[in-house]
Amino acid sequence: MISYDKFSASQRYVAGFSIACAAAAVQWALWLSLGSRIPFLVFVSSLAMCAILLGPGPAGVVLMVGFVSGLLMLEPIHSFHVEESGDQLALTAYVALGLMFLFAGSKLRRYARVAEDARTEVAAASMRAEHAVQRQEKRFLVAIEASAVPFSLLDPVRDANGAIVDFRWSYLNRAAAATLGFERDSLIGRKINDVLPGSWDEPGMLERYCSVSATGESQQFEFYSSANGIKGWYHVYASALDDSIVVWFQDITEQKQGEQSLQEEAKSKDRFIATLAHELRNPLAPIQQATSLMRQPGASDHTRQWAAEVIDRQSRHMAVLLNDLLDMSRISRGVLTLRKALVEVKPAIHDAIEAADPLIRTKQHELIVRMPPHDVYLEADQVRVTQILSNLLTNAAKYTDSGGTILLAVEAEDDTVSICVSDTGIGIKAEKLQEIFEMFTQVRPERDNQDGGLGIGLAVTKGLVELHGGTIEAASDGPGAGSRFTVRLPAAQQHVPAAVDAGAREHKQAPGALRVLIADDNHDAADVLASLMELQGNEVHVAYEGQAALAAYHAFRPHVAFLDIGMPLLTGVQVAEAIRAAAGGGNVTLVAVTGWGQDNDRANTLRAGFNHHLTKPVSFDRMEEILQEVRQQAEVV
Ligand code: ADP
Repeated sequence: MISYDKFSASQRYVAGFSIACAAAAVQWALWLSLGSRIPFLVFVSSLAMCAILLGPGPAGVVLMVGFVSGLLMLEPIHSFHVEESGDQLALTAYVALGLMFLFAGSKLRRYARVAEDARTEVAAASMRAEHAVQRQEKRFLVAIEASAVPFSLLDPVRDANGAIVDFRWSYLNRAAAATLGFERDSLIGRKINDVLPGSWDEPGMLERYCSVSATGESQQFEFYSSANGIKGWYHVYASALDDSIVVWFQDITEQKQGEQSLQEEAKSKDRFIATLAHELRNPLAPIQQATSLMRQPGASDHTRQWAAEVIDRQSRHMAVLLNDLLDMSRISRGVLTLRKALVEVKPAIHDAIEAADPLIRTKQHELIVRMPPHDVYLEADQVRVTQILSNLLTNAAKYTDSGGTILLAVEAEDDTVSICVSDTGIGIKAEKLQEIFEMFTQVRPERDNQDGGLGIGLAVTKGLVELHGGTIEAASDGPGAGSRFTVRLPAAQQHVPAAVDAGAREHKQAPGALRVLIADDNHDAADVLASLMELQGNEVHVAYEGQAALAAYHAFRPHVAFLDIGMPLLTGVQVAEAIRAAAGGGNVTLVAVTGWGQDNDRANTLRAGFNHHLTKPVSFDRMEEILQEVRQQAEVV
């Protein structure tokens, strides 16, 4: 291809001039040998060559040199005059032919330049396109390489009949190689079944890939892999790319496990609600029957007494269930606070045994208690320690066939007190030892649930132990071999003389009459409580709403007032505030009796001036304890 632009204008003119001189020399030589009438052959051909190769300017130089040479060499020689008409014609023809070549040469040059420009443009465009493709490819690769989602490109491997029998990796990203547990380079070009034998054993797997390759339609599916040490759930998305297939696969094991545990949790909750309904109905039936029995006109005193005991027992059972539920809810919300004090272990154990005693007796178990010779102190909430131990003792009694042995052993180490409750009961399977401390999962569906509870007792127990900074562990040599629960609590750093605690517990039975005000809009609740208080020898006044309660306070001036909170006209809190604001109102002991037992409810009542906050159903023993305190303060004992 001719390219004038390779030379500068001066170079072209120098070349043109040189060609013209060379042509003049040749022409001169020819003239000398062939005569002056030789046409301007050399000049014409040089001019044509210059016009094409160097452009019209240099060709013009050749034309001029040729013309001057013609003038000089045509007769008369060495003059600028041409005499003969034939020579004049030849010179004119030379100039005309030269101008035509010049014109044609300049045209040709322009076309050549256009063609050259077009060629350059095409080359640049194709280079740009190539770069764009390379950049695109690079971006695509970077994206795929950076992707955490495993990706691979598979080419089909066919048998002699053309049927696909396997696939081989033609590309896979880093994530895919890592998931498969291989170096990427060791996989590329290899057949899947050679590297991961049994990959196509998963029913329908190879068929799916074949169908994608054959039909070009994408497919997505989930499958569980257990071959070649690759365990887990995968979501696969396969689509066709020419004859090959592109496969994205994502590890969804965690998501699947989450779904499964949600399903299990939902099932556990359903089971829990069913058990809860059952457990709450259980005591309700005897309570209703005992109530009907008491109403019978022919019922003897003995029958009524027995019915009252049934109601008492069953309502206590319900209260335990409800309290456990509330405690569990508070523990899981992190709002259960402990009232820690320096406490001795012995009284907590005593109270726990007292709580579990009815069941231990009914099942005729032998209870052995082993204590260290010296007193053991804890920095703990005594009520909660009692609850922990009574749960363990009750379970030991529940899950041991009649006539078993329960051992409660206390050991004091340097900074830990360990309390172990072991039994000779049904034992626990090793795989259940952890599970039994979880909420909802402890209910024993495989067993007649007659003795079992809601399955939250141990969850509450563990929560309470951990709130104290302690640990609890279960051990068992297996079914039928008994169980052992060990609670470890931090020991108190300081010791307290034993007399402090003994003294505190001495005044339990002290009798003495008090003036007691009972206010509750539930007439039955108020009346029953009033009867019980009167039976203890107290003077009792009952009010069924807030204003009447306040009036009764002023008229009656009680030592102690049990006030329901949710009363009409004035709430218990308003009554308490009015009493505290009245002259002498600071002396009376105010007890809030309410169904609301959250910490902020307690804080509210204490702020209003109450001395105690009791949650319904209130144990009469607790009320009696409060009366006892009031008796002491009032010195009416
Ligand atoms: P519940 O007794 O209300 O079912 P718990 O949370 O107190 O709930 O106990 C959870 C489970 O642990 C029980 O259902 C029972 O299977 C098992 N368990 C607890 N204590 C013992 C024990 N001493 N011996 C055998 N199994 C026990």
